[in-house]
Order: sequence, then structure tokens, then C-alpha cells
Amino acid sequence: MAGEPQSDCLFCKIVSGEVPATIVRESETTVAFQDINPQAPTHVLVIPKAHHTDAAALAAEAPELAADVLREAGEVAAQEKADRSGYRIVFNTGAGAGQTVFHAHAHVLGGRGLNWPPG
Ligand code: IMP
Repeated sequence: MAGEPQSDCLFCKIVSGEVPATIVRESETTVAFQDINPQAPTHVLVIPKAHHTDAAALAAEAPELAADVLREAGEVAAQEKADRSGYRIVFNTGAGAGQTVFHAHAHVLGGRGLNWPPG
């Protein structure tokens, strides 16, 4: 059910502490942690603590929580000083777009030049 923890979800396990992560920021409703395979000097994932499969589902099922994730993504960028040169907030949505973990997450990428369009 939307919002409920999923026993087979890696990011639910990070929320519960079952899987360790380098947490850089936490709010009542979100957690932000270092990506295990960083693609830029700043590469932090911001997730809702509640389980929603992707960004579109999150926005449809819990719009205030989607806003929390976006606000925290901006706070992470400022905290990591990635806002000085510009940064990117990315939600890969669907396997064809590169989504590999089906718990909504924002990638916050910065600290280097970012090309457009992305690959
Ligand atoms: P996606 O490909 O958009 O779904 O993003 C999933 C991200 O999770 C990838 O960038 C992975 O490197 C990252 N990732 C996978 N496992 C872990 C982990 O255990 N800790 C932190 N990041 C992870």
C-alpha cells in the first residue's frame, strides 16, 4: 500500500537503519544521504521516509511530501555549497529512464559542470 514500508525495498531499509548510509540531512519526513556511486562531487539522494514508487506516484499520493523532498533537495544543495555554481535535481522515473530503486528519490548533483541534454 502507498506510503507503507516495503520489506524488499533498499531505501525503506535505509530509513529504518537496517542498511547503513552516510546521512547528510534528515527531517521529520525525509532523509538525505550520499549516493554510493557518486556521479559528481555532490551527489546526494533525498527520499521520503514513506514508500512511494517514483516521483509521479509521490506527487499524486502525497503532494505535501513531494514538496518536502523538493525543499530538502534545495537545502542539501545549499548545505553542500552546490548552489554556488548551479546544480541539478533529477528524478529518474521508470526503468527506461534509468530508475533502479523503486522508492521515490531526488538526485542532487553539483560541484562540476553539468551538460545538457543529460545522457
Ligand atoms: P536510480 O538509478 O535513479 O534509481 O538511482 C538509484 C541510486 O541509488 C543510484 O545512483 C545508486 O548509486 C544509488 N544507490 C544504490 N544503492 C545504494 C546504497 O546502498 N546507498 C546509497 N546509494 C545507493
